[in-house]
Amino acid sequence: MLILMELNSTSEDVKRVKTEVEPYGCKAHKIEGTQNIALGITGNTTNLKEDNLRNLKGVTDVIRVSRKYKLVSRMMKPDDTKIEIGNDVIGGNEITIIAGPCSVESRDQIFQIAETLANIGIKFMRAGAYKPRSSPYAFQGMKEEGLLLLDEVKREFGLKIVTELLNPAHIDSVKEVADIIQIGARNMQNFSLLEEVGRTGMPVLLKRGLSATIEDLLLSAEYIVSQNNYNVILCERGIRTFEIFTRNTLDLNAVPVLKSETHLPVFVDPSHGIGIWDKVPAMAMASIAAGADGLMVEVHPFPQAALSDGYQSLTPKNFHAMLEKLKTLAEIMERRIN
Ligand code: PEP
Ligand code: MN
Repeated sequence: MLILMELNSTSEDVKRVKTEVEPYGCKAHKIEGTQNIALGITGNTTNLKEDNLRNLKGVTDVIRVSRKYKLVSRMMKPDDTKIEIGNDVIGGNEITIIAGPCSVESRDQIFQIAETLANIGIKFMRAGAYKPRSSPYAFQGMKEEGLLLLDEVKREFGLKIVTELLNPAHIDSVKEVADIIQIGARNMQNFSLLEEVGRTGMPVLLKRGLSATIEDLLLSAEYIVSQNNYNVILCERGIRTFEIFTRNTLDLNAVPVLKSETHLPVFVDPSHGIGIWDKVPAMAMASIAAGADGLMVEVHPFPQAALSDGYQSLTPKNFHAMLEKLKTLAEIMERRIN
C-alpha cells in the first residue's frame, strides 16, 4: 500500500499514520519526493482500514499496490534513485562505466590495469577477489590477498572499487575496500546475504540470476531496500536460454521494462551477457541505446592469459575505442558518461 501525504506534513502527522498501521503488523517506510511524502506500507495490508487512513491529517491518497515488490517500484517513488559515491553520482542523467578484469590475479596485473583505466578517466574499477566458479577446480580468486591489493590500487589511483561478496563471513573485509558491493548472479536469491548487505547501507550492485525473471530480480532488490538501503543498482547480465552459441542471452528487454517499473538505476554487463569479446562493443552500445544507466565491462591487460573470463574480456585498446563511441551515443541519448 502507498499512502501519499502533503509535502508539508509534520513528523507528528507521519507518526499518526505509522501508529495506525503498526498494530496490524505493517511497517511504514517514508520516501521523500519532490511532489509529496510517500509512505510505503509493507506487510499484510489486507486488514488496514483505508477510510481511517484517509481521514488522518496530511493524507491525500491511499493506493493499493498490486505489484509484489513495493519499495523498489516507481509507483512508490517516482523520482530516479541517485546514488552518491564520493563525488560521483550513479543514476539520473549520468551513465557510469565500471571496467576491470574478472578477477584480481596478481599485483602486476591489477596495478597495470588500474593505471590504464585511471588514465582514460574510468572512476569505477571492478575485480573479483572471491570468485563464484562453476567448477570447484577452477581459480577461486585471490581472496583476502586480492582484497588487500584492491585496497592498494584504490589508494594509488583513486579508483572506486566494485567487488563481489560471496559469503557473509567476508562482509567486514569486503566492506573495508569496496565502494560498491557486488552480489553475483548465483547469489541473487541468497536472501540472508541480501538482507545482510542491505543492513550495511552500502551501495550494492545486484546481478540478475541466470534463470531469474525480471520480477524475481525486483523482489531480490526489495530484500535489500526493505533494510532501508536504497543504494541498489540492478544489473542485467544475460540469462540462460536454449541458445548456446553465445554464453548467455542478454535480455535487453529488461532495460526499458525495469526503467519503468523501478526507480533504481539499471546497468548492463555485456561481457557476461554475450561472452565473446569482439561482440561486447555492439551489446554495450545497444545497452545504452536501450536506456541503461551504466555498464560493467571486463577489461584485462592480456585477455589470453586471464585466469577467468579471458574470452569475453576486452584489451585496454579495444575498451578505449568502445568508450569513445559510447560517449557519442550518450550525447544522442541526451545523457553524459560520468
Ligand atoms: C562477474 O562479474 O565476474 C561474475 C561472476 O558475474 P555473474 O555473477 O553475473 O556471473
Ligand atoms: Mn567474470
